[in-house]
Amino acid sequence: MKKLSYKNSADELADNLEKLRWVLWSYRAAGIKDWRRGVHISEPVQAPGTAGIMDLTEKLSSMENELTDCRRCRLHSGRANLVFGEGSAKSGLVFVGEGPGFDEDRQGRPFVGRAGKLLDKMILAIGFQREDVYICNVVKCRPPENRAPQPDETAACSPFLFRQIEALNPKLICALGLSAAQALLGTDRPISQLRGKIHLWRGFPLICTYHPAYLLRSPSQKAAAWQDLKEVIKHLQAVACRRNFLK
Ligand code: URA
Repeated sequence: MKKLSYKNSADELADNLEKLRWVLWSYRAAGIKDWRRGVHISEPVQAPGTAGIMDLTEKLSSMENELTDCRRCRLHSGRANLVFGEGSAKSGLVFVGEGPGFDEDRQGRPFVGRAGKLLDKMILAIGFQREDVYICNVVKCRPPENRAPQPDETAACSPFLFRQIEALNPKLICALGLSAAQALLGTDRPISQLRGKIHLWRGFPLICTYHPAYLLRSPSQKAAAWQDLKEVIKHLQAVACRRNFLK
């Protein structure tokens, strides 16, 4: 049996309490009084047929292959692994972060470090598992010291992000933090002005929220992030209703 030290069990308990808090928030937002009934977002988005999924998988892996040995910007020199993105188009939801950090660079996967753990909880709070959504970044290689990507790095990498998103054909894009919001919307306005409304990126609805790494540094902003996540739920529910109505 796994032996737990007091510290490990306290960490685990704190982690579970935090998960529970996000989930209970989501129940409240969905108007569910009896928490035992759980969150129910009735099949928000229809999964594409097998042919669609095959097609998408092929498209994405051919894009990823194009990036093998990419040297389009200076970030290539510091990377251990390129972090293309991962997940599923099933939910119709795509999260876009800034760029890989230390853990992501090591593992070649997006959002697997501390910020990623918080993102997992946020995803859980809106009724999905991490595997149901697609997660990627503006730049695919780790910026040194986790700094924000510079404009020329964003310009070199974003065509791949744009093709990636278009291939995914999402019902909603959620931009995590300033770099993603500004890169997608082509603006230099602050995140405070970009939150709280539904934008359109090439015809796809887009919502901006705070980056999970920022929420770890400023936990008092979690309530504001939760307001954004409620908009995500509302938008996906509206898409589901429209689909049912048109059936
Ligand atoms: N921060 C990001 O913006 N992306 C990641 O993949 C991890 C941390």
